[in-house]
Amino acid sequence: MTASGMRIETLDLEFGGLAEVIAAFLVFGQEGPVLVETGPGSTLPHLLDRLAEHGVEPEEIRHVLVTHIHLDHAGAAGWWAQRGAHVYVHEVGAPHLIDPTKLLASAGRIYGDRMDSLWGETLPAPAERVVAVEDGAVIEAAGLRIGAISTPGHAWHHHVFRLDDVAFVGDAAGIRIGDRTWIDIPAPPPEFDLEAWKESLSRLRRESFSTIYRTHFGPTTAVNEQLDRFERLLDEGAAEVREMLEEGLDRASMSDRFADLMRRRAEALGVDAGAFRAYELANPRTMSVDGIARYWRKRTAKVGEESRSEGS
Ligand SMILES: [Zn+2]
Repeated sequence: MTASGMRIETLDLEFGGLAEVIAAFLVFGQEGPVLVETGPGSTLPHLLDRLAEHGVEPEEIRHVLVTHIHLDHAGAAGWWAQRGAHVYVHEVGAPHLIDPTKLLASAGRIYGDRMDSLWGETLPAPAERVVAVEDGAVIEAAGLRIGAISTPGHAWHHHVFRLDDVAFVGDAAGIRIGDRTWIDIPAPPPEFDLEAWKESLSRLRRESFSTIYRTHFGPTTAVNEQLDRFERLLDEGAAEVREMLEEGLDRASMSDRFADLMRRRAEALGVDAGAFRAYELANPRTMSVDGIARYWRKRTAKVGEESRSEGS
């Protein structure tokens, strides 16, 4: 519920047969329901079940917002667009919902032959149904006014959506299953950017939200506490990968050591084996190591170039 009494439901898409991995959100506007995040094609049956439990027929969904185009957030967006819903997405992401070829190729590099079983079908969205949204835009849908806040870090084309005093934060506040104290870092290559992400977190703090809804997974009211804690864990995780790079570890050893560090950190913060599995499903470990390592390599190359040109 927002300050002005708008009702929000968290829908569990039961990704991989587990609870609390991927969420979508249902907002009841004066003129109808709005869906925030679609989940992947593979969880559409669960999404439709959840909507039915709240008395919503698929035909009633005319407006769909996605925080970014990654398949766990927007894989089913094309399905909704093909049924006539408007899909609101960051302007940089919009072309990839219309033609998902590149998006699928890039996900394929991470997930390989598990693409179909994980994500199901990713349909192209008809261009006339896709609404490209820029930073600061206000989306008017079903009697609601929803603000888009550009929040790069996880991906360049990431939006947080502000509704009244609450926000749908996608992956911008990290991965935290329910109210557990550990927050994991979703850092897919090639767009993870530590500096950009820290700026996004500062921006989110200034917004003073009363509640944030994480796609992985659920609402939190202690917003700044969550953002602060995530920033510390983000800095720590990034520094650990940097040290491994400096030690010259190969990819497999980095991945193993990082997985081990994360497991121990999660355990120390009281995350049991079942919950850890949900974290892993939401955020494959090797992916984050690759993403963070790529960021540091790129940055080191850039700094090297700058100092060379300063010296000349
Ligand atoms: Zn995600």
